[in-house]
Amino acid sequence: MPTVLEPIMYEPRQRELEVAAIEAIGRRMKRVTLRGEDLKDFTSHGPADHVKLVVPDDSGNEVMRDYTIRRHDQSEGELDIDIVLHDGGVVTAWLARAEIGDGVATRGPRGSTPLPIAEHYVLIADMTALPCVARAMEEMPPQATGEVLLVVSDEEDELRLEHPEGVSIQWAHATSPAGISEVATIFAARVDTRDRDTFVWAGGEVLAMRSVRDTLRDRGLLDVASVNGYWRAGVDGYDHHEPL
Ligand SMILES: Cc1cc2nc3c(=O)[nH]c(=O)nc-3n(C[C@H](O)[C@H](O)[C@H](O)COP(=O)(O)OP(=O)(O)OC[C@H]3O[C@@H](n4cnc5c(N)ncnc54)[C@H](O)[C@@H]3O)c2cc1C
Repeated sequence: MPTVLEPIMYEPRQRELEVAAIEAIGRRMKRVTLRGEDLKDFTSHGPADHVKLVVPDDSGNEVMRDYTIRRHDQSEGELDIDIVLHDGGVVTAWLARAEIGDGVATRGPRGSTPLPIAEHYVLIADMTALPCVARAMEEMPPQATGEVLLVVSDEEDELRLEHPEGVSIQWAHATSPAGISEVATIFAARVDTRDRDTFVWAGGEVLAMRSVRDTLRDRGLLDVASVNGYWRAGVDGYDHHEPL
């Protein structure tokens, strides 16, 4: 069984930051660097750590959306988030208007959970959970082995990622929930976890993640797995605290 570490809990707090850089890292992904004195006491210990990004919508109303802390640098007072661009997204629209120096706030994280300790990792993600998986691979022990499925829109969104030598990455292309579900479920059904101390993590569109969860359950792997809904087709600002 993987060793699951206790989360470190924080006092909820809003941080007032500014946009320090915006960089296209794929066709549908932009990296935004946020900077501010409020980040000088910011820590993050786990790949799934996330903040609520607080941005104005087109009418100037405040909206909040969850984003993974892809990188943080306490001494510089900086954090990076990688944002998937998509039709109808409030954050996508904000990003199209955003300029260096614009004010932006974050809330959280509420807690920080280090990557469970295992010999072997099976990770499954669509583009929204790619930042978490990218960070997880950087935080694995160097001797770790694993199989990783990353479902992105096309080959222009396949990123160069650091990972231990024993971890292999398989890229697949899909954008619709049905398409993501199909490749993720086939992967979850066939991935080999025998005779190894394995941790399974999956994140992405809700319907796809339900199918992955059901497949892992059928294989008796749910007790070593964490399956997470990150967005739901047709739902604005999906609340990931809802049961999957
Ligand atoms: C813990 C956690 C961490 C997350 N980390 C990241 C991250 O690092 N990077 C990231 O990009 N996202 C991440 N997400 C997902 C992100 O919070 C959602 O995709 C969110 O809905 C985006 O807000 P929005 O303003 O773009 O769209 P919304 O206003 O919420 O939604 C508008 C419409 O777009 C649809 N939609 C939402 N997301 C997508 C999508 N990716 N592709 C296509 N249609 C979509 C919705 O179903 C809705 O119909 C994370 C979610 C969670 C729960």
